[in-house]
Amino acid sequence: MASSLELQAMRRAIALSAHGLSSTSPNPPVGCVILDAVGQPIGEGYHARKGEAHAEGNALLAAGAAAKGGTAVVTLEPCNHAGHTPACRQLLIDAGIARVVIALIDPTSRGAGGVNELLRAGVSVETHVLAEEAILVLGQWRTSLALSRPVLTWVFAEGSEGRTGALKRIPSSRELLLAADAVLDADGRLDEATPRSHGPGMIRLPADPHQFDHRELLEALHAGGVRHLLLDGGAELVAPFLADDLVDHVVAYLPDRGPSASSGPGVQELMMPDGFHLTGVSRLPRYVKVSATRRDRAEQDHVSSSP
Ligand SMILES: [Zn+2]
Repeated sequence: MASSLELQAMRRAIALSAHGLSSTSPNPPVGCVILDAVGQPIGEGYHARKGEAHAEGNALLAAGAAAKGGTAVVTLEPCNHAGHTPACRQLLIDAGIARVVIALIDPTSRGAGGVNELLRAGVSVETHVLAEEAILVLGQWRTSLALSRPVLTWVFAEGSEGRTGALKRIPSSRELLLAADAVLDADGRLDEATPRSHGPGMIRLPADPHQFDHRELLEALHAGGVRHLLLDGGAELVAPFLADDLVDHVVAYLPDRGPSASSGPGVQELMMPDGFHLTGVSRLPRYVKVSATRRDRAEQDHVSSSP
């Protein structure tokens, strides 16, 4: 059983991990908190960019020698492969960490991940701790992995001329860019969501998106490292993706048209696409923001409690 201090540390690690959203792709955004031998937090870190130190390495660096005999609380199973950086399970073992508390098992490890090596080294390991909460940050990465394509979020604003892209019109909608890798707009232009957040060459966008059909485009983007794509536009942009059930999330901005308004260009225009359910409704200046998720996608994001 994870202690209440460990649960608190995990919630902090999950929150920290979100600093890496959109800049770690194709790597997962991971957070880590190190507790000393009596359970006090002494270091924390997250993975900021592919090619740079992982969350565990950054947290251990901050914790220093006091990590010996302590606990590492980490949102994803520590890696077992040395690449740009040493394997995290080895960093943890070398630092004398006695216990590792993990939210999600790395689906790419296929049983050969860091957990086995940690156990072999005599480290106590607990998994699936607050997994449902860790999914808030790791969900897009995991779903993209399972689908072998980027997760798609359709973003639009309603206006007098119907539905259009939101990112240029509604300043607060630009927060969505911080959790995405790339944006496709209504003119078929493809851009990085937050330029320079990825390391150089970490994601590759096709130069001419028009030469692909929508499925091929998603394949090319996935191969290029894109794990979350925003579609910023109206019905025309999203139609081929919706028709093939490729849209996972919708974020809509509905203007305040007054407490009594006649229906717009038709009931269909006012509705979420079929099969989506609302996951959030919040009030913004002059707009209401409505978030929705496809029903089967939400189930995919649900975490089973079995290893
Ligand atoms: Zn690692």
